[in-house]
Amino acid sequence: MSSVVIVGSGFTGFECARRLVRQLRKHDASVDISIISPVDYMLYTPLLPDVAGGLVDARFVTVPLANSLHGVRAVRGRVDSVDFDGRTVTYTDPEKRSRSLPWDRLVLTPGSVTRLFDIPGLVEHARGLKSTAEAVYLRDHLLEQLELANIDDDKTRIKARRTVVVVGASYSGTELVVQLQALADTAAKQMGFEPADVRFVLLDLAEQVMPEVGEKLGARVRGVLHERGIDVRLGVTLKQVHADHVVLTDDSRINTRTVAWVTGVTGAPLIERLGLPTEHGRLSVQADLQVPGHPDVFAAGDAAAVPDLTQPGKITPPTAQHAIRQGKVLGHNVAASLGYGSPKKYKHRNMGLVVDLGPHYAVANPLKIPLSGYAAKLVTRMYHLYAMPRFVNRWAVSLAYLTDVLFDRSVVSVGLSTQDDARFSTSEGIPLPKAD
Ligand SMILES: Cc1cc2nc3c(=O)[nH]c(=O)nc-3n(C[C@H](O)[C@H](O)[C@H](O)COP(=O)(O)OP(=O)(O)OC[C@H]3O[C@@H](n4cnc5c(N)ncnc54)[C@H](O)[C@@H]3O)c2cc1C
Repeated sequence: MSSVVIVGSGFTGFECARRLVRQLRKHDASVDISIISPVDYMLYTPLLPDVAGGLVDARFVTVPLANSLHGVRAVRGRVDSVDFDGRTVTYTDPEKRSRSLPWDRLVLTPGSVTRLFDIPGLVEHARGLKSTAEAVYLRDHLLEQLELANIDDDKTRIKARRTVVVVGASYSGTELVVQLQALADTAAKQMGFEPADVRFVLLDLAEQVMPEVGEKLGARVRGVLHERGIDVRLGVTLKQVHADHVVLTDDSRINTRTVAWVTGVTGAPLIERLGLPTEHGRLSVQADLQVPGHPDVFAAGDAAAVPDLTQPGKITPPTAQHAIRQGKVLGHNVAASLGYGSPKKYKHRNMGLVVDLGPHYAVANPLKIPLSGYAAKLVTRMYHLYAMPRFVNRWAVSLAYLTDVLFDRSVVSVGLSTQDDARFSTSEGIPLPKAD
């Protein structure tokens, strides 16, 4: 029996597996399909800011593979290397044992990781937002700092504990800062301090907030952030990060104990180790998602540089929208390569973006129609509920939204994600340079 191995259980790998199973069932074909991933779920990343803000539970944004991918064997592990001649992948399982798996068709969808720069103190003191561990840690850490500030007697320390710096003013960083502010507002009410005592700073080296939504909506977002008292500083980033303060590239200093680094992504570390051509850290692929020179190997999603046929010369941006659709084409083309159906090229026009900006506000540009306020909020929430690939998750997230309308957010620091769990190396698998 032929075997297909899919590396990574994100949007692309998950959709590929679903489509492949469906295609093979249509042709009554028997193929052994495995999906290897360090986690046993597909993470619905667009709601991670809601998890960090204590609005949605981490479980609700994870779609279990066991219950959603029937006919697919889920293997827990992180792929370390690929032998293209011997047609095997080698992976490390959760108990650190090295194992291997043979394949006839290989699908590479390991996604992306946070792009780190050589900024002193960044990996030690900042946290990302690519995993549930990081999102839960940010929530717990902020609440802990607010609790500690309430019983501290040193004015400088109190101020630092009540200051949050988020770096990256694209949609995920902006959604994060507003969700953390909503959580802090509730904490202020329940713990007895002024909401305005908590300071939020949003930084970006770019000169625009959320360039993805265009200038008009971006300006509207900036206005909302200003109204909410969020200190937006553009054209600057971090120069140094310390346990109790950061220094910016304009040499200003901010005392803080909470730094989130949400600046952008690069292909998963596995991609670099494959020894194949890449573009901007992403694996080069053809428009049919095949790896050039390797007719049995396919790739897509954040990990791959997929040609954008709607804008010749460009590659598709790393978004869930493309990842989902590329996953479907992948499944179709892998089945075709096994003799079931015929291959097609990936072509998809950008359908716009939805961005939830916390209490009572959102912006969206579905089909290039610019929306803001309540209309955008409705579109944003409906879109996420529609895009989430499992009814139970949709149900749970809907209830979380309803709970948020009726009651205050729970101000609890459950402590399930430690500082070590949320390090870039542990939670995202980014190899860090060894200390001298
Ligand atoms: C906070 C946040 C908010 C976002 N919001 C939006 C949004 O609103 N709209 C939008 O369009 N996009 C959004 N995105 C982008 C979107 O999440 C990505 O484009 C999408 O997840 C890419 O899907 P993927 O399958 O390529 O990669 P991923 O979803 O990153 O999945 C990769 C998978 O591969 C696994 N993996 C990694 N390395 C290995 C390995 N060596 N071996 C085995 N498995 C491996 C990972 O554990 C993971 O399961 C957001 C991203 C973030 C972080």
